[in-house]
Amino acid sequence: MFDTAAPRKRLVEVRNLKMYFPITSGIFRRKVGDVKAVDNVSFDIYEGETLGLVGESGCGKSTCGRAILRLYEPTSGSIKVDGREIAQAGFDSIRAMRPTMQMVFQDPQASLNPRMTVAAIIGEPLDEHTKLSKAEKLGRIYDLMDAVGLNRNFANRYPHEFSGGQRQRIGIARALALHPKFIVCDEPIAALDVSIQAQVVNLLEELQDRLGLTYLFISHDLSMVRHIADRVAVMYLGQIAELAKRDELYTKPLHPYTQALLSAVPEPDPQHEATRRRIILKGDVPSPANPPLGCNFCTRCPKVMPVCREVEPEFREVEPGRFVACHLHSEQQETAGQTEAPEAKSTKDPRIQQGE
Ligand code: SF4
Repeated sequence: MFDTAAPRKRLVEVRNLKMYFPITSGIFRRKVGDVKAVDNVSFDIYEGETLGLVGESGCGKSTCGRAILRLYEPTSGSIKVDGREIAQAGFDSIRAMRPTMQMVFQDPQASLNPRMTVAAIIGEPLDEHTKLSKAEKLGRIYDLMDAVGLNRNFANRYPHEFSGGQRQRIGIARALALHPKFIVCDEPIAALDVSIQAQVVNLLEELQDRLGLTYLFISHDLSMVRHIADRVAVMYLGQIAELAKRDELYTKPLHPYTQALLSAVPEPDPQHEATRRRIILKGDVPSPANPPLGCNFCTRCPKVMPVCREVEPEFREVEPGRFVACHLHSEQQETAGQTEAPEAKSTKDPRIQQGE
């Protein structure tokens, strides 16, 4: 479906993934609706690449990552990891797949058991999934501590004795324990000091090169995603608005939401920074329990057209490997040679303001 010319193997294939959470009401807890946290999302992740998944808080990116690892039960859709369908697989199949796919969590403080030593935390998956002897297990724990830059002499210490960055290294070591192929990194640096963030990102990159890992890197930090990702998917209100190779997306975003998000990222080059035009989006993100008709961005889009309020745009490949869900890039628009709506050309649009 995606980027068929690419010779690389698709390690993760997500098709029409929906993750709805029921809303209940009354003493009988009758279902009265759904929170559409992830709504019909499709993408691939190729072996050895990093796919960045970006968007505002609450857009569904973390839920998407967790659903792909089957930490949630998806409402519908297909998820293939390394060729195996896991969306509707039973407990035993998922357990057998666990070593292949792991997660690094946002908050190392909350994701590590404070009553367990570092050795016990890193060794826990080995207890679950391997039959290593005590000595072999300790050897593997030491190797993992070395790999993530932790002093093996601290193996019997507890998480509270480490800094935030070191705790995240413990979480990464645990995720690597079973030789995974695919790791979902869910905002792995968001809870860390800025000075530590680059160290953790560099470690993730180094491990990827050394171990051939594939990452889904979830973040709201567009600068960091630009640094680490090969391709980037932009999520808004449970759906993917745009997916493209990193440089294409950052230099020429096509979706109005991507344009607005990127307009807020400072440019390192002072000349470019001086000409940066900031696009301020008005209004709040609608509730995922009650998304708007048509395009889900129509309530805030500076380029909205009448059709946007009635017809949902198709998420389609507009250039090889580049996908956009927007009527400005629909087949009809392109056939007519109109890639921009009349409103888009107006500099008088009150929602487009000069850069800060
Ligand atoms: Fe804006 Fe319409 Fe495109 Fe949605 S479909 S992003 S409302 S122009």
